[in-house]
Parts: sequence; C-alpha cells; structure tokens
Amino acid sequence: MNGVELRGVTKAYSGLTVMENINLEIEDGAFLVLLGPSGCGKSTLLNMIAGLEPVTDGSIHIAGRDVTALEPDERDIAMVFQSYALYPTMSVRRNIGFGLKMRGMPKADIDNRVGEIGELLQISPLLDRKPSQLSGGQQQRVAIGRALVREPSVFLFDEPLSNLDAKLRADMRVELKRLHERLGRTIVYVTHDQIEAMTLATRVVVLDKGHIQQADTPENVYRRPANRFVASFVGAPT
Ligand code: ADP
Ligand code: MG
Repeated sequence: MNGVELRGVTKAYSGLTVMENINLEIEDGAFLVLLGPSGCGKSTLLNMIAGLEPVTDGSIHIAGRDVTALEPDERDIAMVFQSYALYPTMSVRRNIGFGLKMRGMPKADIDNRVGEIGELLQISPLLDRKPSQLSGGQQQRVAIGRALVREPSVFLFDEPLSNLDAKLRADMRVELKRLHERLGRTIVYVTHDQIEAMTLATRVVVLDKGHIQQADTPENVYRRPANRFVASFVGAPT
C-alpha cells in the first residue's frame, strides 16, 4: 500500500499554473525527500498533501483513502514547519499535549504521553519552560514532539532544520533518521539541502519549476542523475 499518492495533481494560484499533472506514489514507511531550489513548488506540494492548499485538479490519497475533499485534521497527518509555530504563552508540556486535549483525552493520559515523547526527544527537563526559553534546536524538538504525539500515519516536514546552525543541523539529521527507523511511519520531507536529502531519504524526488525531474533512490539520484538539472543541483554546494 502507498502511504501517500498524488494522481494528476495540478495547482494554480489565481489562474497561474505552478504545478501540472503530478503523479507520485510514496510507499508506506518511506522517508521521501522532496528536493529542489527555492520556488520550485515544494511547499505547495506538501501543503496540498496536508490539506492546507486545495488542489486545482487531481486527487490525493493517504493510506489508500481519497482525502482530497477532507480538512487537514481529518487526513491522519501531522506537519512540522520551518518556523516551528509553537504557542508562545504555553509551556512545552502544554504545547505538546494540546492536540490530545483538543481530542478530549483525559489529563492523566496526556501527561503520560507527553512524558514519553519528552524522553524520546530528550527534552524531559524542559517541559515546564516556555518556547522563548529554549534554543532553536530545542524548539524544533518541541515542534516535532507536537507532531509525534498525534500518532499520524504520515509526517510532513517543511524545511524543519533550515533555521538551525550547521552543528545542530547535523545532530538533528541523525536524530530524525533514528526516529524514522523507530516509528516506521511515512515521512514526506521538504528541503533545498542536498546533504539532508542524501542522508535522510529512502527515496528522493527532485523538483524543478513544478515538474518532477527524477524520483529515485538517493544513490541513483547522485550517481545517475536523470538530466543536467539534477546533476548540477545535486552536485552544487548550498
Ligand atoms: P518552494 O517551497 O519550493 O520554495 P513554493 O511552493 O513556495 O516553492 O512556491 C512555488 C511557486 O508558487 C512559486 O512560484 C511561488 O511564488 C508560488 N506561490 C506559492 N504560494 C503562493 C500563493 N499563496 N499565492 C501565489 N503564488 C504562490
Ligand atoms: Mg517552501
């Protein structure tokens, strides 16, 4: 079964087509990285999977279910943004538990679950702090914790590491890979950073100007680029 499938997806913003007839099958449990330069349509594609942007044409399927007409909270997904988007007035504990509270989970169960997530992400000592009292890397862990707690079948990440310094980025890459191995859930991960793509992905989709240039294993994208664009983008330093 596919974790996510796009069938003939087209997207136009106020009449201007930015993506045409995209077909993509993302295997259940894959770590799929959408790689491409700024403006190529990565966020648009992810937002359509999340239900934050409507498709202009075509359909989106998650775990075999057509979700094209469903709201984001009905899609069995959780998204992590570049900006983290934490609630500034809430403690870390409440930020992570908020989604469960909205679902009506009893407080004791929420506390247990948040405790487990805190241990998994190594932020247990930080649970009573406010987001402003955390470093960028710690805030990013909280944002990931908020997505994990909902136990969706698909995680969507939009450039989650791009605000971190190089050392933290490298550490977080290792942790994200470990997390994926541990959870075994489907991840769709957007980046313009080819190192992230090559180290994290089980499969890479290279996008340019709203078109898929290559969809392949990281090894093949690197060793056998499908065209000049892929060769220069994957080979170029950021
Ligand atoms: P990326 O995430 O790869 O940088 P985006 O998906 O943000 O690319 O953008 C793809 C294209 O769609 C760009 O040309 C961008 O200007 C355009 N675009 C994105 N969002 C909007 C919007 N809300 N309204 C109009 N055009 C948009
Ligand atoms: Mg983007």
